Amino acid sequence: MSLGRRRALALFSGGLDSILACRVLMEQGVEVVALRFITPFFDGDVAGAADYSATMQAKYGIHVQVLDVSRDYINMLRAPQHGFGRHFNPCIDCKIFMLRQARALMPEFQASFLATGEVLGQRPMSQRRDTLHLIERESGCAGILLRPLSARLLPPTKPELTGLVDRERLYRLAGRGRKEQQALAEHFNIVDYPAPAGGCLLADVNLALRFRRLSPGIFGVVRDNGGDSLVDDFRLLLLGRHFEPLPGLWFILGRDQKDNERLLALREPGDWLLHMVDRPGPVALLRRGERVMPNLLAENGLDMAGLEARLAGLVLRYGKKVAGQPASGLVRIERGGPSRVSREEVFAPLADELVQDLVV
Ligand code: SF4
Repeated sequence: MSLGRRRALALFSGGLDSILACRVLMEQGVEVVALRFITPFFDGDVAGAADYSATMQAKYGIHVQVLDVSRDYINMLRAPQHGFGRHFNPCIDCKIFMLRQARALMPEFQASFLATGEVLGQRPMSQRRDTLHLIERESGCAGILLRPLSARLLPPTKPELTGLVDRERLYRLAGRGRKEQQALAEHFNIVDYPAPAGGCLLADVNLALRFRRLSPGIFGVVRDNGGDSLVDDFRLLLLGRHFEPLPGLWFILGRDQKDNERLLALREPGDWLLHMVDRPGPVALLRRGERVMPNLLAENGLDMAGLEARLAGLVLRYGKKVAGQPASGLVRIERGGPSRVSREEVFAPLADELVQDLVV
């Protein structure tokens, strides 16, 4: 009787556990294709994909495929069924999402099962026994998902039951300790691997506050057909300084040259662009303000000139100082929308107390 193809698709974060999970299977002669899913929140960008795969192959002997899933991932972020963790991290839905993606790729890669580097009890929420089962069930992966590092503490999966994988050569790791993983790394002669934790910006406390405050507005404005805009909006959330000059208006200032270049690249036709003319300062973007501005101005008792002064004042506050102090200067305002009016005027920097009220 044929046992089926001994090929697995593994979720690969680049952390030690995912490296070990792949190697444990490879040691048994299983072919492993490691999938590294990337989004704006973790694992960088597609541009470096070829280099990354080559490095993983050279360092760990693992064949890694990099796949950008940003669009679908951000749509999941609108309303994760199992909610968020301590910050903006929807860990359970995130894992379900990734497993669904991997399961959908099984025919293309002619894989007969999936694997992850999850360790029972290692993370309080997403790696409890009941959560592991829930993730497996809701992703449609019951029976085909093998966790090689904890497999012998979990019910046997199809690849074990059919003899594709020898259960006796899998592991019974559990809990938060790292000693056994380190010993296993030594066994495989893996010396150079990333430190555990970190890496996911959704779990960053400060970014989470920003996401929580701004994402309802973003999701509200960019509807289902705005997939790429939505991805760009989340890219914007990850750079620079953020302000709400009026409730519902989103204003972003570059922190350095790299931010400034990214802001220019992410500008949409409806965005306003501001920058200092007579000395160095940040590039600033008012995102999609034109749509809501007339109502907002009326509601907040501000006229257009007052709004422009507020925006330019923020730019000057973070621009090059004069004699150690923020100072007045010439600011160019390029309005977005159909009119695309541009003008330059001398404005005053905004006082610190006001800036603090507007910061996100
Ligand atoms: S920490 Fe981030 S990448 Fe990891 S499971 Fe949670 S949301 Fe997903």
